Amino acid sequence: MPPTVHRMLPGFEGRGGEWLDVEIYGLTTRVVWARLPLIQAGEVHEVTTVPLMLGMPRPHAAARSGADALGAEASGPLVDTFGRVHRDLRISLTDRCSLRCTYCMPEQGNEWLAKASMLTLDEIVRVATVAAAAGVTTFRLTGGEPLLRADIVDVVRRLAEIEGADGRPVELAMTTNGIRLPDFLPGLIDAGLGRLNISLDTLRRDRFRDLTRRDRLDDVLAGIAAAAASGLRPLKINAVAMREVNDDELVDLAQFAIDHDAELRFIEQMPLDAGHTWDRSRMVTRDEILDTLATRWTLTPVPGRGGAPAERWMLDGGPATVGVIASVTAPFCGDCDRLRLTADGQLRNCLFSTTEYDLLPALRAPDGGSDDDVDRMLRSCVRGKLPGHAINDPGFLQPVRGMNAIGG
Ligand code: SAM
Repeated sequence: MPPTVHRMLPGFEGRGGEWLDVEIYGLTTRVVWARLPLIQAGEVHEVTTVPLMLGMPRPHAAARSGADALGAEASGPLVDTFGRVHRDLRISLTDRCSLRCTYCMPEQGNEWLAKASMLTLDEIVRVATVAAAAGVTTFRLTGGEPLLRADIVDVVRRLAEIEGADGRPVELAMTTNGIRLPDFLPGLIDAGLGRLNISLDTLRRDRFRDLTRRDRLDDVLAGIAAAAASGLRPLKINAVAMREVNDDELVDLAQFAIDHDAELRFIEQMPLDAGHTWDRSRMVTRDEILDTLATRWTLTPVPGRGGAPAERWMLDGGPATVGVIASVTAPFCGDCDRLRLTADGQLRNCLFSTTEYDLLPALRAPDGGSDDDVDRMLRSCVRGKLPGHAINDPGFLQPVRGMNAIGG
């Protein structure tokens, strides 16, 4: 078998045998260029240089004080081999959705997750409790559409009761299409929901119908109105920017958010649709989004992004702001602090990961399983995290799951 030849990092070609510290995805990584013979049918054909990578922990406060970032620490914060401390758990409650957004789900023929594998409320709470004890401070409920889950208010109530490792309550947020919010919002707030992101890609009814394959714009707008009238702040509205679909509405969408005391967060379209039809040329880039917004407002960067996915700008000096999540053209993997739990009990360390860590055996062991097994699985998942999502690498492979089954 010939060795796999990885892509050369530009500027390092031919520098075999040296250890180099290089910056990839904002992470310091140690690379050595090894020279390997290509052997086919027992004959040496040529010698090839391949980069071998090892994670190198960055000097990080939590890493210094707690876990050995390269080792298999059984306690302390969830630190990966690059020194990233994981504090955010995205919990997908279902892969079902009331919309069929073209960039997320196929119109028909979606293969739903098996009912028997869906996590029960107790199982979700168990994983979340172990994660919180390991330093996770934020849970975000997502899906699919989280409000389709029949026990959603109980899910929120039980998760909101969980305390973090520092004894403080965890933060509880939800990403929703908003359709069922007018009915559920008072109960959700009473149960302890802290923040909301609502998705809205267009203000035009015909476009909404084409894009989501459902005629539900009025329901989404009613959900946003209910959220705006509630005390939940900050309120965020997510919009995926798409060429010749909604790129003429970027200013209108941002203004709509301002009118609802919310922040618009534009998302670059990512290769996560279940139909695997993503086309880079259809994506509207961060720079294009900013250029468009700059035709209407003066944009001033908001400092202090931390591990947040969105870069933010003040509009005309504030207080109104806008955010851009540029996962494709300006990846922020170097600061990623997120883990994901799918509705069928798989842990993922990246949206784009092709590896999953199955919690079901630990959760459903005949003797009830142990929290230590859940904790170990969390730590394995964190340790297996790669430096970046590699969307821009020629060899990138889209995950088999669509966004609705991963949890956006
Ligand atoms: N149903 C909820 C909603 O509509 O917000 C939560 C799940 S949805 C998968 C979460 C977010 O992912 C939404 O804001 C959606 O626009 C975004 N999303 C889905 N597919 C995407 C893709 N291919 N690229 C970028 N964002 C995507």
